[in-house]
Formats: sequence, C-alpha cells, structure tokens
Amino acid sequence: MWTYHPDLLARAVPRYTSYPTAADFGPLEDRAVERAIAGAGGDVSLYLHIPFCEMICYYCGCNTGAAGKRARVETYLAALHQELATVASLLPATARVRRITFGGGSPNAILPAEFLGLIDALHAHFPLYAPEWSIELDPRSMNPAWGRAIGEAGVTRASMGVQTFASHCQTAIGREQSPLLISRSVEWLRAAGVTSLNFDLMYGLPHQSEEDLADTLEHTRLMGADRIALFGYAHVPHMVPRQSMIPAAALPGPEARFAMAAQGFETLTAHGYRPVGFDHFALPHDPMAEAARTGMVRRNFQGFTDDQADVLVGMGSTAISGLPGLIAQNEKHNGRYRALSAEGRLSAGHGIVRLPEDRLRGQVIEHLLCRGHAAVAPCLLGEVRERLTPFLEADLVHLCGNDLTITSEGLPYARVIASLFDAYRAATQRNFSAAI
Ligand code: SF4
Repeated sequence: MWTYHPDLLARAVPRYTSYPTAADFGPLEDRAVERAIAGAGGDVSLYLHIPFCEMICYYCGCNTGAAGKRARVETYLAALHQELATVASLLPATARVRRITFGGGSPNAILPAEFLGLIDALHAHFPLYAPEWSIELDPRSMNPAWGRAIGEAGVTRASMGVQTFASHCQTAIGREQSPLLISRSVEWLRAAGVTSLNFDLMYGLPHQSEEDLADTLEHTRLMGADRIALFGYAHVPHMVPRQSMIPAAALPGPEARFAMAAQGFETLTAHGYRPVGFDHFALPHDPMAEAARTGMVRRNFQGFTDDQADVLVGMGSTAISGLPGLIAQNEKHNGRYRALSAEGRLSAGHGIVRLPEDRLRGQVIEHLLCRGHAAVAPCLLGEVRERLTPFLEADLVHLCGNDLTITSEGLPYARVIASLFDAYRAATQRNFSAAI
C-alpha cells in the first residue's frame, strides 16, 4: 500500500511531542515557570513522573533507575509531594484540573500505598473537576494489590509497555514477559474499571520478523487492547548507552522497518482499529478514535492525546510543562530536584519561551501530524515550497491554495513533511531518529 522512498526518509527528524522540541531548550529566566503557572487559568492537566522501574530494559531512553533502593524512592516521593503543594499554591483560582497522568519510568514500581498517598495529596491540594486519571504500567510489576489501588484511585485509562510477544526479541531487548503475565494484568485492569487500555508495541526490534510482528498484533487484538501505539525502535547507543546491549547486526534494515510499519497499519485497520496520527490506532468506541474522527487529536509530551487543555504542568524530575507561552523541563538530576523541591521551589530551569512564530509553526506541525492537514500561512509556504516539491511529485501531499494535506500514501512520511516547517532543525538534526 505504501511506497518506499528511501531518499525522502533519509533525514532524522524529531517526534514533535512539542514545538520547539526538547533539543532546542536552553536556560530559562529565574522563576519563569512559577510566573507561567500563576497565569495558567482554565483547564489544566497534570503529569506526575515516577523515574523508577523494577527492571531496566536495554532499549529504554527514559529517565529511570532501579526501584530496588527504597530510601531513594522514598526521598524522591517526599520531594514530589512537596512539589505538588508548591504547584497547587501557584495556580490561580480559575484553574480547573481535568486530567491527571502518571508516567515514568513505571509508576507501578512504587508501592500501591505510595501511589494512593499521591492520589490523596492531589485531592487535598488541587481544584479537581472530575478529572480523567491515567497511568503507564509495566506488566512485570503488576499484581492484585496494584489492580485494587488503580480501582480505588478511579483510574480509567492505562497504558502497558508490551513491545513484543516474541520471546527471542524480548530476550534481545532485556524485557521478558510472558503472554500470561500480560493477560493477567489486563484482567486486573479491567476489573479495576479501566475502560481505555493501550498497548505500546514496537517494530524494528532485533531478530524481529514480519511473522513475529503479526503474532504480536494478533495477541494484542485478542487481549482486547482499545488502543495501540506502534513505535519504530530507535537504535541510538551513542545517546542511550544501555542500548549497546542490543546486537546492532540483528536489527532489521530501513526497508524492512518500513514494511513492518505498513504491515502494522494494514493489519490493525483491517481489524477495525482507526488510525490516529502516524503511529497510534484506536477501536471505534475509544475516546481517541472519536477525537480522530472529529479532528480533536492533539500532540503533547505523552504523544497523541484527546486532551484539549492548553496547560500541562509536569511534576517530578525531568517532567516537562507545556504552557501557551513557555515550555519548561524540571531538573533531570534527582538529587538537585529533591533539594530544590525541599526549598519549596520549582526545579524547571531549562526550556524555551514560545514566540508567536514558534506558535504559528507549532500549529502547522501539530495539525499535520494529528489531523493530516493544515492551513499554512503564505510566508511559511513560500519558505518550504522547494523542499516540498519531491513530496508533491510523489503524491505524498496535496496542496490546494494554502491547504496542505498528507495523503494516505504520505502517512509514513508525516514527520518528515512536518519537519519542513521546523525553523530549528538544521543545527540539531543528528540527534533524532529515523522517521519510520
Ligand atoms: S519498563 Fe519502560 S521505562 Fe522502565 S526501563 Fe523498561 S522501557 Fe524503560
């Protein structure tokens, strides 16, 4: 269905979970994030980062560490509680919290009681307006107690890191988990009241064949995942040293990766999943599918989302806050994060002020990735016209007046097409992964 144009996929591009991207962050003015949060009325979403996992996977590029050292976990959670109180004290009276997400790492690497302690603190400090609760989970750390905690907290959306059901691929990426472990986790989550369950899957893994991917997609479908995120594995051991554990020679080449992305798209859409953006899929009853149908999909630091809030406050080390005029990232170093939180200060000293031009370009990029089309200002169109030509000639995009539309053939090229509008890219291109 899709045609492989290697020349058009040669450029490494960002995933655009924000624009400008994290690669463009620099030092912020002192207390810039405090001032931005104090001005953030209306609907607000919160993100809490738990940077621990019971076992570290070889491929993982996240800020996470082993949860085995209890003292480290406990001091981190104390700092997070302090940060919750600080952020809540800054939010204006007009703020309404409607979404709360726990991510990581693996939030279920902490104890269920510690998780419920955070839930209590959120209820105590923030103006909650029937929020939607969601959580990222490692099935290897799931158990009945965690299922009960998720039910008690009122979590209705969960995302599990599954990646692949092929045991030889699991061994190669340092993430071994049996189908039984996954299906038991699904049962606990459904019993807890989770109605929107996502499986994160990957293609382009070491030793992975098309048969392996077909088997993984079939398991996923039969286990009833409401949503699927199908990512291409990005092998960048110079940036993620733990990836050097993965045998590079066993990785599928670019054309095989392209074929797997196409296979995933064809298989999932043939089984009733609706495509959301360029790498997500949702069953028609899922809110994400409805958002895709009505053009309401957005993109934030968690990927594609149906969250419409313009204010996302990230809490925890490395967490990123996205506000209309500012993107700010918390301190990455856990020790410094804890010290600043203990002083009642926010640790986000790094980020970028979003200028009007950034917002203009960011909107085009977000609309292209989320909706597949964008109205492009004439000044931007003039700037990209020459670089757009090969995509127009290959029928990957259509241009009608100022309306740019990515065709169904152009979907695997969406990130590259969006990147044409990125004014920051030339200098930092080498830091990104292949677009497919
Ligand atoms: S469970 Fe997720 S966050 Fe933790 S190491 Fe594995 S991939 Fe990384």
